[in-house]
Amino acid sequence: MKTRVLPISPASIQEACHILRQGDLVAFPTETVYGLGALGLLPSAVQKIFEAKGRPSTDPLILHMSSTDLAQARANGVISDPIPQESQLLAKTFWPGPLTLILPRGTKVPHEVTAGLETVAVRCPSHLGAQQLLAAIGAPLAAPSANRFGRISPTDASAVLQELDGKIPLILDGGSCLNGIESTVVSFPQNQPTILRPGVITAQAISQLLGNECRISCHTQPQGTPASSPGMLASHYAPRSPLYSCQEPIKTFLPNFQHILFFSSQESKPDHAHILSPNQRPEEAAQNLYRLLRIADAQSPQAILIDPIPPSDLAPALQDRIFRASTGSAIWQGGSWTLQARDKT
Ligand code: AMP
Ligand code: MG
Repeated sequence: MKTRVLPISPASIQEACHILRQGDLVAFPTETVYGLGALGLLPSAVQKIFEAKGRPSTDPLILHMSSTDLAQARANGVISDPIPQESQLLAKTFWPGPLTLILPRGTKVPHEVTAGLETVAVRCPSHLGAQQLLAAIGAPLAAPSANRFGRISPTDASAVLQELDGKIPLILDGGSCLNGIESTVVSFPQNQPTILRPGVITAQAISQLLGNECRISCHTQPQGTPASSPGMLASHYAPRSPLYSCQEPIKTFLPNFQHILFFSSQESKPDHAHILSPNQRPEEAAQNLYRLLRIADAQSPQAILIDPIPPSDLAPALQDRIFRASTGSAIWQGGSWTLQARDKT
């Protein structure tokens, strides 16, 4: 199959709708990462997502909607009662935007989307291209990140092409993703808002809005409870070369290694060193993380070393992605790095 890449325009949106209505796949930009979209209420189309990605069917998908109105999603059979009150406030405040809500599954949602769960993940993206596509298709799109399963999420159209060339008919090109990491996922066990996947909308922002502490519950929280949903795999978003997260900032560069620094004040740096945030802003680091992992990985180094992430409200989201992408940690000992693989369970 030939994969075409078209810039977003009224004509390419129409073309995308035509392909989607035939039950085929279209990759499209969102503010988080590029999504691999299919009609979310059509089981045969959803099935194609799992095939193209090589994704296990036990990993549930997020439904993307054009409207921020939960009452409308309920009327359309996407979600059902009881809808937690906090979810309404979260949708009203953060939608359209990089927040996914886990709510009771509506009658129209196929089991293929939810991996058999009685809950469904929904979100309304803010990217203009995504909005235009969702408005034109007039139905929810199931859309996981547009990469082969377990690999680095794509944050521009060329990265999608690297991942899925020949496997899908169309990629809509809407430039680089603003946020650069996947959405914050919030669920409501026993009506208690809980973050299953940290993202750009932080625990602090959610807690402040709700006037109630919102916990993060995922693998990377050392004191955290075990994963409460499928799909929260410890190994994910991974480059091909082994990635090691350094326990202290990188000061020396090794031949045959690639190095990802959080920031550097040095004027010149070697070609095998990359800077996550030239302006020392965590949002900028999130925007660049996957792009730099891809660039480093493309050199097929012996290993990639990445700096520690300085504390901030966004640090848990960055640390989560780095942890899942990594093979282990690097400890500076006796003038060299000791690489320590971690148990991947
Ligand atoms: P992605 O593959 O990046 O689109 O992310 C989808 C992720 O959302 C999954 O891997 C899960 O972690 C989470 N998710 C989706 N649906 C559910 C659900 N019903 N319950 C809990 N988590 C979910
Ligand atoms: Mg993904």
